[in-house]
This record gives sequence, C-alpha cells and structure tokens, in this order.
Amino acid sequence: MPTDPYAWIEPSLATIHKADWYRSEQTLDSRPGAVVQLEGREVINFASNDYLGLAGDERLIQAAVAATQAFGTGSTGSRLLSGHRELHRELEKAIAFLKQTEDAIVFSSGYLANLGTIAALVGKRDLILADQYNHSSLKNGAILSGAAVVNYAHCDTEDLKRQLAQHRKKYRRCLIVTDSVFSMDGDLCPLPEIVVLAEKFSCMVLVDEAHATGILGATGAGCVEHFSCTGKPLIQVGTLSKALGSLGGNVAGSATLIDFLRNRAPSWIYTTALSPADTAAALAAIQIIQQEPERRVQLTRNVDTLKQLMTQKLSHLKLLPSESPILCVQLASPTDALTAGNKLKAAGVFAPAIRPPTVPTSRIRISVMATHKLAHFQQLVDALGAIY
Ligand SMILES: *Cc1c(COP(=O)(O)O)cnc(C)c1O
Repeated sequence: MPTDPYAWIEPSLATIHKADWYRSEQTLDSRPGAVVQLEGREVINFASNDYLGLAGDERLIQAAVAATQAFGTGSTGSRLLSGHRELHRELEKAIAFLKQTEDAIVFSSGYLANLGTIAALVGKRDLILADQYNHSSLKNGAILSGAAVVNYAHCDTEDLKRQLAQHRKKYRRCLIVTDSVFSMDGDLCPLPEIVVLAEKFSCMVLVDEAHATGILGATGAGCVEHFSCTGKPLIQVGTLSKALGSLGGNVAGSATLIDFLRNRAPSWIYTTALSPADTAAALAAIQIIQQEPERRVQLTRNVDTLKQLMTQKLSHLKLLPSESPILCVQLASPTDALTAGNKLKAAGVFAPAIRPPTVPTSRIRISVMATHKLAHFQQLVDALGAIY
C-alpha cells in the first residue's frame, strides 16, 4: 500500500504548536488607525506599519475611489503588455523625486521588488554579502539569484570588511544587501560605512528602506537621506505598503539601473501591474509626505515620549536599541512573549509577540504612529507594568 504523501503535515504542525511557534490571523474590523476594532473589541493599535496614519486618510481613499472609477479595479495585465497606465509613470516619477534619483520603478509588493531586483543583478558567478538580520524577501531574493551568499554579523562593518577581504576577489560582481531600518529590531544599518567599503571593494549596495520611507530624513526620503547618502550610487528598495498606506513596492536609482530592471526583473515582467486604486493612493501619500512634514515631526515626538515613559516606569525591562518608531521589549521565551501579547490584548493594547523563526529572540514589538496620543502610551506602559 502506498503511504499518504501528505501524512507528514499534521505531525509537523504539532511540532510547531509544541514549540509555541504556531501562528494564526486576527481579524481587524475597522478602518486602520491608532485605535481599531480587533475581533469585536476596541484596542490601541501598536501593531501597524501605518506610521503616519495615512492608510485611513480621506485623501488616499478618495484618490483610490477616483482611480477605480476612471480605470476600473484591475490593471488587467503586466506592465509590458496591457497593464501600464499613465498613473504608474506618475507614481514612479514622484518616487524618484522624493528619493532624488534619476528614475524609479514600482512593483506589486516590496517582497517582489527585492526578489526581482536581486535576481536581476547577480547570478552564479557573483557574491552577496548580507546582514544576518535581513528581511525574508532579501534572503529569498539571494537564494533565487543563485549567487554565493555570505552573511555578516548584524550591523558589524568590521566583519563585513573581513568577509570582503576574504571572498570578494573570487567573484565577478558583488552586492551588499541590508535593511536600512531593521524591521523586527528598529535599529539602523551603518550605511555611511557600508558605502565606503562598497567603493573600496567595488560592490553594488542594495538598501531596503521599507520602514524608513516617509519617516526618516528631512524630507521623508528615508535612511539614505538621514545619513546624507543622497546621490550615492545605491539601489534603494522601498514599499508603498507601510508609511505610504497603500500596497506595492519600488526601486529607486540610476536611469540605467531602472531601465535594466524593466528588462530583467522577472517579478516585474511576469506579474500583473499594480491596481489603479493602489497606485493612486500611493501617489496621494507621497504628496502628503512632502506637504505635511509635521506628521514626521509628531512621530519623532511620540517615539521620544514613549521611550521616556518606558525608561521612567519600566526600567527593569530590556528595550532593544532603536532609532526608529519600532520599539521591542525583549522576553525570555516564545511562551513569555505569547503570554505578554495576550495579556496586553486583554488590557486593550494590541502589540504582537514576535517569535522565532522570524527573530532569534522573542519579543513584544511596538510600532509608534504619528496619530497616537499621550493617553495611549500611558495605557501601554501601565499594561506592561501590570504584567512585569
Ligand atoms: C515589509 C517589508 C518588505 C515587504 O514589503 P511588502 O510591500 O509588504 O511586500 C520588504 N522588506 C522589509 C525590510 C520589510 O519590512
């Protein structure tokens, strides 16, 4: 008798349960914002990437509705066939202007932008040097490319330099790949030092600005602007789905790079173009980011306020180093993190437990928004204080 080829799935799932690694969705049934309805209950939302509160902004909603009325719901094809609209080009020009690059290209998600870009730029004869804490899309892009991958210790430029000295000359091209704001930690990559090493060892640099676009830098261009690296020869990946409140990804860089990606990035060529609604909403968000810097200022103020409250009242908890709106409280085990997440939810605070394999150590991850009020931070700190 042949055995059931799917029989392995159930015991594998049981193992996930046993380790407290099991995950499932939670239903949010309201517009996004600082306060949301989660499974029928009102909670303060510290789980959102909507840092500037734009995903529920009336102007983005109206832009999406107007684009849907004009161009329909689906884009009906890939960009090179029937999917291209003038709106896509307008959005790409707006991104290039924000990032001060020659050109930009929009993908259907940030994940696809990383997969397609890395696979287009390097191959079997090439080397990728990657920060060990890089986002899943960067890691899988590296695998897809077929290049040799060497990880360097998190944000450790001495280690990066050692690895370059040891491996660089054996390969044709070299691509250094890093998150700019690390998505599950909140700290920043040492971009200026990376740029210097890249010049010295003749490497391309891909920096993933998913959690920095709209947030860091004087004009909201991201970590590249924050570190005064604007104009450097970088490959800047971003997402339209976090501070920009829409859906989609993007790459900004030289005109040659972008033209090459249009011809070689499989996750752009062979997938349906961004919908008119998502495109128009992202375009509206970029305009707001440029016209309303006060949102960024308020976000920075909010982060400072929460950090201060936590240092005053929760000094016994370990806060991971952060220079972004992502603050993490480190906990001993996945079970501890789960318990804390559930107790917080019971206290009306939505701040998720992040566990292995997403991160090496368990934690509660807190995302600050520009639209949070002092009372929200007080309730969070009180709820954490009641647990620990
Ligand atoms: C969220 C995220 C992505 C993926 O972006 P999506 O648009 O959500 O697919 C890529 N890189 C990093 C660092 C992220 O945090």
